[in-house]
Amino acid sequence: MRLTVLGRSPASPNPGEACAGFMVETDGARVLVDIGPGVVSQLVGRHHPDELDAVVVSHMHADHMLDLVTLRYVYPWRARPKDQRLRVVMPPGSADQLLDLAKGVGNARHFEDCFRVSEHDGRSPFRFGALSLTPVQTQHYIPCWGFRVEADGRRLAYTADTAPCGGLRELADDADLLLSEATLRSLDEDATPPEPRGHLLPAEAGEAARDGRSRRLMLTHLPVNGDGAWATELAAETFGGEVELAMPGRTYEI
Ligand SMILES: [Zn+2]
Ligand SMILES: [Zn+2]
Repeated sequence: MRLTVLGRSPASPNPGEACAGFMVETDGARVLVDIGPGVVSQLVGRHHPDELDAVVVSHMHADHMLDLVTLRYVYPWRARPKDQRLRVVMPPGSADQLLDLAKGVGNARHFEDCFRVSEHDGRSPFRFGALSLTPVQTQHYIPCWGFRVEADGRRLAYTADTAPCGGLRELADDADLLLSEATLRSLDEDATPPEPRGHLLPAEAGEAARDGRSRRLMLTHLPVNGDGAWATELAAETFGGEVELAMPGRTYEI
């Protein structure tokens, strides 16, 4: 299984970088997980969207889904035959929001003429060829699901956006690679009590990986200046091993 980082920025983009977007491939299957602003420009340098089996969206925050709007423009401006439309798997209950977004950009059929949109049910695995994706709900400001992605006996766990929670523990459990958000430089950047938290400190990503016995930890969704050592060093202290930073444009074997 291979992971290609198309974007790793949090909602406020790092200069020259796309927001969340990760291509996961195995022989015969290719899925794009999250499609934040800037991701499509990174995708089309590698693949036409017809070479994707599906786009899968973790939650309805703009930094994870707004480039669905852009993706539609890669196709000619007419309805595609139904059996040729790209599969787009959305979080439960998001259909109305997607329709509002389509209307907001000037055409209620903006997505449906081109995409085959469905919602996952929040817990059941779904499959594209040899790639199996299991949604795991996380704790965030709005409903959000990370994914356990499995193929060839290997397991990639993507946290999407999350605070420390049971879902994060479930994702980290026995992962060959935990691709974890690490958005916060301090807890002052998260919601203030009694509002529930929605993001992680790098040290909390490290704790989750350690407690779940993840074999590798890679950080994403963080403000990066320079090499991001501020984050990887903090995460490495709690993880107890080396921690990688997701690098835009790079492909990793899992
Ligand atoms: Zn979010
Ligand atoms: Zn986000």
